[in-house]
Amino acid sequence: MNNRTFRMQRRYSWYIVLTGLAAFILLGVVIYVNVSNMMINQSKNNAMGLAVIAANEIDGDSFETIQSERDDAYFDVLEKITKYMDYSMLQYIYTMRYKNEKLTFVVDADPKNPAACGEEYELLPEMEPALHGQACCDSKLIKDKWGSFFSAYAPIFNSEHEVVGMVGCDIRTSDIVDRLTRLRNVMISLITIFAILSLISMVMIAHDMLQRDQLTEISNESRLKDVAAGLKKKNRLKDYTGMIVNIKDFKYINQQIGFYKGDEILRRYAHYLSRLITHGEYVARTGSDNFLMLVKKGREDEILNVLSPLDLSIETENGKQLLHIFSRCGVYPIEEGDHLSNVTNYCTLAINSTRGKDSEDYAWYTDSMSAQMVEEKDILSNYRQAITNGEFKVYYQPKVNIDDRSLCGAEALVRWIRNGSMVSPGQFIPILENEGKIIELDFYVFEQVCKDIRRWMDEGLNPVRISSNFSKLHLKNPNLSKQVLDIVKKYNISSDYIEIELTESSGYTDFYALEKFVRDMGNAGIYTSIDDFGTGYSSLSMLKNINVDVVKIDKSFFDSLGDKKQNGANLVGNVIRMIKDLNRIVICEGVETEEQVEFLKSTECNIVQGFLFDKPLPVEQFEERLKLPKY
Ligand code: C2E
Ligand code: MG
Ligand code: MG
Repeated sequence: MNNRTFRMQRRYSWYIVLTGLAAFILLGVVIYVNVSNMMINQSKNNAMGLAVIAANEIDGDSFETIQSERDDAYFDVLEKITKYMDYSMLQYIYTMRYKNEKLTFVVDADPKNPAACGEEYELLPEMEPALHGQACCDSKLIKDKWGSFFSAYAPIFNSEHEVVGMVGCDIRTSDIVDRLTRLRNVMISLITIFAILSLISMVMIAHDMLQRDQLTEISNESRLKDVAAGLKKKNRLKDYTGMIVNIKDFKYINQQIGFYKGDEILRRYAHYLSRLITHGEYVARTGSDNFLMLVKKGREDEILNVLSPLDLSIETENGKQLLHIFSRCGVYPIEEGDHLSNVTNYCTLAINSTRGKDSEDYAWYTDSMSAQMVEEKDILSNYRQAITNGEFKVYYQPKVNIDDRSLCGAEALVRWIRNGSMVSPGQFIPILENEGKIIELDFYVFEQVCKDIRRWMDEGLNPVRISSNFSKLHLKNPNLSKQVLDIVKKYNISSDYIEIELTESSGYTDFYALEKFVRDMGNAGIYTSIDDFGTGYSSLSMLKNINVDVVKIDKSFFDSLGDKKQNGANLVGNVIRMIKDLNRIVICEGVETEEQVEFLKSTECNIVQGFLFDKPLPVEQFEERLKLPKY
């Protein structure tokens, strides 16, 4: 069933149920009315038929002569009408005379309490047709102390064909009433049962609607919670593995193709996941571009192998576009005692561990991830107070010109001195960066750097150019350039002493912001550098478009040199040459051996930073280097 059909079906099922109920009630009422009319008409006809037959048997001329119960003609009529009393539905049969616009009893066959001959009887409007020669009947059922009945009347004619009286038949209707009551009760019971069933199905439809994700039509988190609770009750939740799936760069996809098409991707991806699961497995959209799957243990690899990429052809303004949808996944094999909430937490920890690592699309939960989460929380709740307390210290790692082994610059690297021990930035920078909290710290470090430079100038030391690391998150700040320049101005230091290190990142927005920032800094005479070149997204073609002054080649890029692998050495040599051809300064980071220095001398890189010369130094030790800038 496709999406649209399903949605329509869901919407109309309400109407179907309600219309069905209304139709059923209407049908019941129609059947009841028709059957009861039929039964009433039939007994009316029977009553009139009986009255007509009885009336035809009576000789009107002798009937006219009857004056009292002793007349022969009286007995004759009595005999004739009494035989009809055998008819089971007949309650009474009697004859009446019509004379001088008055109606009087003549012969009454009531065996118990017969009306006296000559006793007056009320002329009812229903009797009128009989007086005009036609059989007739009460229009309504009569209910009195003798029970419920119809009265039918048929005219008695004399030989002149004049109406001289009429036969009255009272037909008992108690069994009709009984049957109708039974029919009504059956109808009411059926309608009640149908109404209850409709109500149940409406509740089920409503429940189903509440448990489905509106956009993708697959289950939502609430449904999965119910499912997991059910499985847990049967002690079967531990047979499953939780998998959180997230579409990579979905924000970027949305920007590229628009929210409407983004929704289409979510729907198609959701249905792709639904097709991956088998009977007894579950998938739900838990919000945004996140999905949670419960798959049977042992099936994880099968699913991970086909999870990503999913190639989707999407109709856009520029025609058909083929999109490769990549995803990340956090996997947690459920253990006895787990609830869906811990499953989600563990899967989230696992998936979060893949963020920022482009090579890893999925991760299995490990206990260390929980410990890391505790550490993250600790860092996030304490870093701000730590800034105020001055627990963050700036260390300086010298940059050395290998031609003359002289100090030619330094990189400012932050350290957190916490309860007397040092926390390395590798432990807290990625956490602060993930949570968007790094901005404040970067500015703090940068201001410390400017303060130190000012002090060195005031103390007569010759400062070198100091580079400060700025997270790529700063690029989202349109006032970044102004804020940097304001701090430089505040300490009244030469822009020659300042350099800003940035890492290149993905996405056009970042690219344009980076290009503008680099231009602003260049105009102010401040150096900019691309950090960690050779990792992540940085590329030579990017260097053509962004006018940075310095390219810092990451340690990992030439780690292979230690193994004397000629291919690696050639590659590094060529890359350095190409960067130099673009008129950029090249700095190699992480230089630890003289061998590496020798190799770099053979290339066009003459500035290095690494443990061979110095580790990042506390400010006092770095000041010693400033005083004696030779190695
Ligand atoms: P980075 O900017 O690439 O800094 C260079 C890192 O390499 C430093 O690690 C430094 O200690 C290390 N390193 C230098 N020479 C060697 C060597 O010879 N061998 C080895 N194994 N390592 C060497 P550190 O100080 O732990 O900093 C790690 C990263 O933290 C930095 O990488 C930078 O990305 C970030 N970071 C440090 N301070 C700041 C800051 O104030 N703001 C921001 N946004 N990031 C910072
Ligand atoms: Mg750096
Ligand atoms: Mg670096």
